[in-house]
Amino acid sequence: MPEQPATTLDLTQFSREPGESRTMEIDLYLPPIHLAGQDYGFVPDTVPARIALIFTGSGFNIEMKFSASLEGECWRCLEPARIDLDVDVQDFFEIERPPVGEMAEEDEASFWYEEDGTLNLSAWARDAAAEQLPSKILCDPECRGLCPQCGVNLNVVTCGCEPPADSRWDKLRELLD
Ligand SMILES: [Zn+2]
Ligand SMILES: [Zn+2]
Repeated sequence: MPEQPATTLDLTQFSREPGESRTMEIDLYLPPIHLAGQDYGFVPDTVPARIALIFTGSGFNIEMKFSASLEGECWRCLEPARIDLDVDVQDFFEIERPPVGEMAEEDEASFWYEEDGTLNLSAWARDAAAEQLPSKILCDPECRGLCPQCGVNLNVVTCGCEPPADSRWDKLRELLD
């Protein structure tokens, strides 16, 4: 599926009175995540999100909350896997962006903040969701994967293949021969 335009938030539209706060519900588009050479898409790819922002004098403190489900291939059995995520992130976006080169490397917020004062909520949301993913995408933590010999899905059937030969097994066979 083609990627949709990112959901953005124009920070220039908000009042810059220190302490001024706003809360809003938006439809947030979640772009796919590329992992281990595969595309993992959110289903649905647009979810309701809650945005709370407060102006502090030098910038906006913004909190974004949403729930989403990511779907794609299980790393062991290649069947569909689904990961449910509850994302709640917060970051600070300065009004005066430091000139390029003076930006602190750990200043992640600047990745999603454009020169014209718009914030790329979709990119921020995707990165926040990616950080919450488990280290392996599995259909089930107990997934048994595919038989290394015949390739059947061991969650569905037991194939009866011999376990892979190891040296102990070879010694036993020599004794029997
Ligand atoms: Zn699996
Ligand atoms: Zn087998």
